[in-house]
Amino acid sequence: MKRCIVFPVQSQRHVLFYGLIRIHVLVHASREPIFGLAMMKELAHHGYRIGPGTLYPLLHGMERSGLLKSIPGREGARARRLYRITPAGLKALKKAREKVDELHHELHQAHPRRISGL
Ligand SMILES: [Zn+2]
Repeated sequence: MKRCIVFPVQSQRHVLFYGLIRIHVLVHASREPIFGLAMMKELAHHGYRIGPGTLYPLLHGMERSGLLKSIPGREGARARRLYRITPAGLKALKKAREKVDELHHELHQAHPRRISGL
């Protein structure tokens, strides 16, 4: 796994990366129930320094839009809200995989298609 520079995500400049962060959340929620702190550590592993003030609203928003479903749970003695992916979330993840593959292809193309004719 390539490590990248960890940067704070809350600045406006980095709004660009919110979509990628949401996709990371869907990937992990499709494999196991997740909770905020574990997801924050995982995102840091991917190079995103995202605080609770940014991540929790993002998780709540994803639940409101039907991609995740949360239930109260525990991690050892700690109460944790656990998030699981929904069928709509799985569908969105499948589509995101296609779109990321397409973007990846274009990012690495030596001669991407010209679009302006200039
Ligand atoms: Zn990950």
